[in-house]
Amino acid sequence: MKDKKNAEPAPNCSLPDVPIRQLPDDISPHREHLIREIEKKWVNGTKLRYYYFRDGEHSTDDVESQIEKVEAAFDIWREVNIGIEFEEIGSIEEAEVRIGFRQGDGAWSYVGRDILEYPGQYERTMNFGWDLTQDPRGDGVDTPVHEIGHTLGFPHEHQNPLAGIEWNEQEVTDYFTGPPNFWPIAKIHHNVLDKYMTENIEGSDWDPNSIMHYEFHAALIDGPDPYDEQGITPEGGLSRVDKNRAKTFYPAQAGGDLTVLEPFKSQRLSLGPAEQRNFAVEPDATRDYTIQTFGYSDTVMILFEDQDGDLKYVKGDDDSGTDQNAQITHRLYAGRRYVLRVRLYLNWGSADTAVMLW
Ligand SMILES: [Zn+2]
Repeated sequence: MKDKKNAEPAPNCSLPDVPIRQLPDDISPHREHLIREIEKKWVNGTKLRYYYFRDGEHSTDDVESQIEKVEAAFDIWREVNIGIEFEEIGSIEEAEVRIGFRQGDGAWSYVGRDILEYPGQYERTMNFGWDLTQDPRGDGVDTPVHEIGHTLGFPHEHQNPLAGIEWNEQEVTDYFTGPPNFWPIAKIHHNVLDKYMTENIEGSDWDPNSIMHYEFHAALIDGPDPYDEQGITPEGGLSRVDKNRAKTFYPAQAGGDLTVLEPFKSQRLSLGPAEQRNFAVEPDATRDYTIQTFGYSDTVMILFEDQDGDLKYVKGDDDSGTDQNAQITHRLYAGRRYVLRVRLYLNWGSADTAVMLW
């Protein structure tokens, strides 16, 4: 029997509205674009631990069949072989990613590091608000692949200004205020009409086949040719560009030894935009240490403690858009091992950037 539900257009993901981080007015557009492109991404090597709401108001009766679809989506991301790991855990307190199935509440995820900033510790960071087993896109798996893409820090591809899509705003508004989405105007702007600031780091300007792109029928688009005639129908699944982008920000972690960051010995970073270096810190005395970057640069720096190979977040700093350097001061313990990850947004000075511990 052909389900009537399948004949209707499928609903779309809608992102939670969070404030845009304020940056000084006087920074260059290039610098601002790089900051916007990178600011929500995790440092590479992060393990994202996720928790499912299996009962209660954030869950649904047939939760296991929904979880099956989400697990298939995590497996698709694992197969890309990026430097981010995903691990299901049973403890909500330890989970960065908290996945609910509250019906009628739409499909959404906070974007990248916003997960740590905005939802409370027991709140959902991701939701699936319709029956994934009835979602025709990728047999119910494309929607969770898309939401995990947001969790990794990737925004909506149709809001990429390089797409050059000219919307028929009236048609877009009529479409998304109607079934099955029923969105208010602000949500339509936030998820469709607004354009992002972006910097083309990995070398592909726009990907209409991205998993992060909605499907649009032709009436919603005034141009360019041929989309005003054909509409845009992504192929489904992760595109080649999706995988390249994921690997640009999260290249597979090469095993092997990290450079040890020794007290008072500065280490040059020699990084390009979005690149990252990793160091080991092995204190021989227990005391307060400071770790700081040097040079005219925007960096994000995260310190983890290595607990038998499991890296636990200790402290982080992000100096992007400021005149400051990233700096962490924290008590480190003799005999323990720490890992420091430093990702560059942009070095705008003529000299190299460096990091030092003292
Ligand atoms: Zn989305």
